[in-house]
Amino acid sequence: MEKVVIIGTGCAGLTAALYAARANLAPLVLTGTMPGGLLTTTSIVENYPGFPEGIDGYELMTRMQKQAERFGARVKFGTVETVELSKKPFTLTVDGDPVQTQTLIIASGASHRHLDLESESLLEKKGVTYCATCDGALPVFRNQPLVVVGGGDSACEEAIYLTRFASVVHLVHRRDTLRASKIMAERALFNPKVRPIWDSVVTEILDVKQDKVTAVRLQNLKTKQQTVLECAGVFVAIGHIPNTQFFKGIIDMDEAGYILPKRGMETNVPGVFVAGDCSDRVYRQAVTAAGMGCAAAIDAERYLAKLNQ
Ligand code: NAP
Repeated sequence: MEKVVIIGTGCAGLTAALYAARANLAPLVLTGTMPGGLLTTTSIVENYPGFPEGIDGYELMTRMQKQAERFGARVKFGTVETVELSKKPFTLTVDGDPVQTQTLIIASGASHRHLDLESESLLEKKGVTYCATCDGALPVFRNQPLVVVGGGDSACEEAIYLTRFASVVHLVHRRDTLRASKIMAERALFNPKVRPIWDSVVTEILDVKQDKVTAVRLQNLKTKQQTVLECAGVFVAIGHIPNTQFFKGIIDMDEAGYILPKRGMETNVPGVFVAGDCSDRVYRQAVTAAGMGCAAAIDAERYLAKLNQ
């Protein structure tokens, strides 16, 4: 039987793994379908402390994994199919095999909601991005017109942040009022570099043939008019989907699916802890996820110490 199983190998999961491993708990860490988590989809990470020149997202995650493994974490490629948390020890089914564990740390992350356009996936990392904080300062976006898609707090925050680098930020929203909080909406709309484009959706990102972003094709939903808008980058900020569908009805979560911890990082099920983006609808940064992973591992270690007293 395992002492600690961690679901997820993003910043939260691997930091939890590092701390649990250094507490001699030999955690089993399950990758899920996206080893390394969301950060592997970004190019240069320039806001993770300790890397003044920035670090490639994939390399950062590889290093985190190595560091956890050095102290005895076992990272296994595997997807959790079922969970049984009503009886102790907990039982997970991982690729058909049962795994029993005394504690579980859920660090399953969140996925960026996509526009679901073919051109979007073909140009991802080639001008299409989902994180202004991660990618906004890249040279390719400097002094260029950029497009942000969305009307929520994330879109406003991304648009405001990008005004530091862009010549102009077009905020494309499918309605004529923002969903964002008043303060965020005002900050965005009062910024002279942010230009809203209302009632409009992106129907295509150009130019797949050139293998880079040069423009977006827009459709106005009211007039049905199509236009082409030149830009060097498209920042999709239409929300996140926490990867918690699995735990619905078992673990307490808010209406959007973000897990709500009860005591420290412990959930409503004693022995089940949570860390990172699957529980964080506000900050969603690599370094905050890592901090939550650390806290979850310390909570799990203390829980086990009490259990085995
Ligand atoms: P959100 O509030 O769910 O907003 C998503 C936006 O994307 C909405 O405007 C929505 O349009 C639009 N959208 C959704 N699907 C779309 C699609 N397929 N095509 C085009 N547009 C689409 O998500 P969020 O902005 O990521 O915010 C999530 C939560 O985090 C919120 O509670 C927010 O307050 C919080 N947050 C807070 C801060 C902050 O306080 N600084 C920063 C970021 C996030 P509609 O409006 O038409 O539905």
